[in-house]
Amino acid sequence: MPENILDTLRTNLPPLLFRILVDTGRIASTLGLKAYGVGGFVRDALSGRKNLDLDVVIEGECYPVVDALSKRYPFKRVIRHERFLTAELYIDGHRMDIATTRKEAYPAPSLPEVRPATLMEDLLRRDFTINTLAVCLDPERLGRVVDLCGGLEDLRAGLVRVLHRDSFREDPVRIPRAVRFAVRFDFSIEEETHRLMLNAIREGAPARASGRRMLDELINIFKEEKRLQIIERLFKIGFFHTLNEEFNDNTHTLSILRRTETLLKWYRSTEREKIEEWFVYFLSLTDGLSLQALREFSRWLNVGGKRRLLSMERRDNAIDALESIEKEPYDRVKIYETFSSCPLELLVYLSARGSSVAESAIRLYIEELKDVRPLLTGRELKQLGLKEGPRMGEILKCIFREKLKGRLRTVEEELSFARSLLEKG
Ligand code: ATP
Repeated sequence: MPENILDTLRTNLPPLLFRILVDTGRIASTLGLKAYGVGGFVRDALSGRKNLDLDVVIEGECYPVVDALSKRYPFKRVIRHERFLTAELYIDGHRMDIATTRKEAYPAPSLPEVRPATLMEDLLRRDFTINTLAVCLDPERLGRVVDLCGGLEDLRAGLVRVLHRDSFREDPVRIPRAVRFAVRFDFSIEEETHRLMLNAIREGAPARASGRRMLDELINIFKEEKRLQIIERLFKIGFFHTLNEEFNDNTHTLSILRRTETLLKWYRSTEREKIEEWFVYFLSLTDGLSLQALREFSRWLNVGGKRRLLSMERRDNAIDALESIEKEPYDRVKIYETFSSCPLELLVYLSARGSSVAESAIRLYIEELKDVRPLLTGRELKQLGLKEGPRMGEILKCIFREKLKGRLRTVEEELSFARSLLEKG
């Protein structure tokens, strides 16, 4: 493993990002400050993985460097979080985070208190040794790896190791993070770290974490390629069970999650409106929870949003309705009426947990019925001599139902159908 990663960064990063990174070090140096690249992108450069999420820390103060960079590069946006001593810089579809080296109280209750600190202190507050690796950006030592906590050795050995005994108690979000990194990189969780993790779970630490941060981590897990393996391991070590006692039957949940993966691939291939994939996984993960438990769990996690709340509240009724659809799978009007009030995320989840008959009905709804609209409007009906009022509404509804059944393909067909209804009176 090289201990100077300048060439790797030059090869892995888009030229503009590489230039900004090198310039950051040079600018900091002219201001009498020291800049370092830290965290994931250093870890990944050292193990030959691409990672374009640049994280830079400045020992001293970051804002003079942010200001100088902003003058030199056409950033699309620069957002400062002065309370946290950080800034986000956006350019060319990329994001770069710059922060003052700092200490903060993890777990962040809501807003952690942040104070400037040395690089060493900044690294010591991090989660795992492999995430404490840094790279010098000052011109004299450009590219040289800084390993203050034994990260290189653990990276070589493939180990996820916490920095101190209280790490998981201090911030239980690190429990799923440890499993996520271990599965993603095919690493082991170091023995003592594993023991500490199990202890923290036994003590019920996960439930004391900030729900909002735990949700962010769950979303990170859902985004991983090996999400199922991560979730399976978290079930095995009792992580979910400490969050809610109703998390029990992981075999069933995992099989729903597996089908969810397949169905989301199908949904993506339909190129229809974007859906929140993480939320479909969330619904699948919580399949075994009663509505009451789901409400509590999601309240703790802060899963807000009208569409998501609607999905959760509709879940049980929709599951019941699905059973009746399974008995009459060819009733296209009924399929439409059952699903038209369900957000798409709920529908994809329902098809993952239902029978193949239910799945076909939901596909039919998404691919065809959802977009059915009469071509005729009230204006054309007026031309047929009809007045505005309930009768007009009824006729439009009849046309709509016929269309759902796959009839009345053209305006002419709709018109003659409307005429026939009018004649009948
Ligand atoms: P990924 O490849 O998933 O983006 P990352 O290592 O870049 O992984 P982030 O979640 O972006 O992870 O966090 C950036 C850095 O912040 C980490 O490398 C780690 O050093 C630190 N960090 C993040 N979360 C925690 C935490 N809960 N406790 C301590 N340090 C953390």
